Amino acid sequence: MKTIIEPFKIKSVEPIRFTTREEREKILKDAGYNPFMIRADDVLIDLLTDSGTSAMSAKQWAGIMDGDESYAGSKSFFRFESAVKKITGHKFIIPTHQGRAAEKILFSIVGGKGKYIPNNTHFDTTRANIEFTGAEAVDLLNEVGKHPEIKADFKGNMDIEALNAFIKKVGKENVPLVMMTITNNSGGGQPVSMQNIRETKEVCKKYNIPLFLDACRFAENAYFIKLREKGYEDKSILEIAQEIFSYSDGATMSAKKDALVNIGGFLSMNNEYIAMQCRNLLIVTEGFPTYGGLAGRDLEAVAQGLEEVLDEHYLRYRIKSTAYLGNKMTEAGIPIIEPPGGHAIYIDAKRFLPHVPPYEYPGQSIVCEIYLDGGVRAVEIGSVMFGKYDKETGKLISPAMELVRLAIPRRVYTQSHIDYVAEVLIEAYKHRDKLKGYEITYEAPMLRHFTAKFRPLS
Ligand SMILES: *Cc1c(COP(=O)(O)O)cnc(C)c1O
Repeated sequence: MKTIIEPFKIKSVEPIRFTTREEREKILKDAGYNPFMIRADDVLIDLLTDSGTSAMSAKQWAGIMDGDESYAGSKSFFRFESAVKKITGHKFIIPTHQGRAAEKILFSIVGGKGKYIPNNTHFDTTRANIEFTGAEAVDLLNEVGKHPEIKADFKGNMDIEALNAFIKKVGKENVPLVMMTITNNSGGGQPVSMQNIRETKEVCKKYNIPLFLDACRFAENAYFIKLREKGYEDKSILEIAQEIFSYSDGATMSAKKDALVNIGGFLSMNNEYIAMQCRNLLIVTEGFPTYGGLAGRDLEAVAQGLEEVLDEHYLRYRIKSTAYLGNKMTEAGIPIIEPPGGHAIYIDAKRFLPHVPPYEYPGQSIVCEIYLDGGVRAVEIGSVMFGKYDKETGKLISPAMELVRLAIPRRVYTQSHIDYVAEVLIEAYKHRDKLKGYEITYEAPMLRHFTAKFRPLS
């Protein structure tokens, strides 16, 4: 087989800035050893997130010029609405400025104290928005998804039995909706199978509970289904996506992921009464229902992006290039969540640094090291991001996994950039026994990873 090449050529370039190790030592210290606090200009290869970091196509930029900025009834809204309807089939399409705005609106309406929202794994903003209303966010990931070393096709799947038992236990009247995150970002960017979506829907149907998709990476998930699930090999990505959404009653979406734009999102659903309440809240917090916190040009770019993301050449390149980085790392012995997910490689920091316990934040240690050594920015997804303190003992309660995520922006970096990243990681792995843990010196009460400050332990 021939090399899988980037399915585009480059007509506009953006220089990246090189720094010395001495400069990076100072930069990292000044940032409180938290890469979120580093200026992007001081980063060489930025794998902090794949969110809003996509390179837009010439056609999307053309759409930016062509955007209709009318306050009400903009033609760009109708193009956006029809692009979203074509894929989701949902009746009511509500534009929001990003995914969390859709979550905030949805859970303000259906959440609240005494309510429970199950999911395969909640993303951090989803969990925060649910908990903010007093409701409880519950993760019911399939057992295989909890084991980074096990290779399986659909490690993002919901544990169907656990979902059934959970709804029985808390009472269906206390579960306003079930969510399903495709692909499962916090669980390693792992896909969910069509069968699992179907079975989740069956459970929901039994209890008369709507199923909402956290659909940020629906196209990547659809491509995995095409590759790995029997009966889908000859279906188009659009057909697979349409089938996925046909089992859902609504969705929240960050267009900053699979709509290939820098800002945008939406909330969609079939229930008219809830949609009306959501729209009323949208008007207070985001904007009029035909722009919802976005400019007309943004809606135009989302509509175009939703078409481009369904292109199989794009998705093959996308999924294969993520796997390319993953394979280079596993060949060097670096422990990662296997198999590689769609948008990112997740390093298993527990196995990478067995001598650094969770309460000394092994993921943070790796993240700092690869910035120092190579100017590569990544993010910890472990005790820093999800750690909680026991209310009585004050002790840190760690999540099941300590991970470092290398998220790959869409259409931004070439194969040689990725080769360089692999070299930096392999170097860090070679002298891993010298890496030390960190302690937190400042933290905010919610979503602490964004602003926390650290000190290296000696
Ligand atoms: C990014 C993301 C969100 C939140 O979207 P924003 O646009 O960042 O607000 C929600 N869920 C998942 C799975 C995500 O990846």
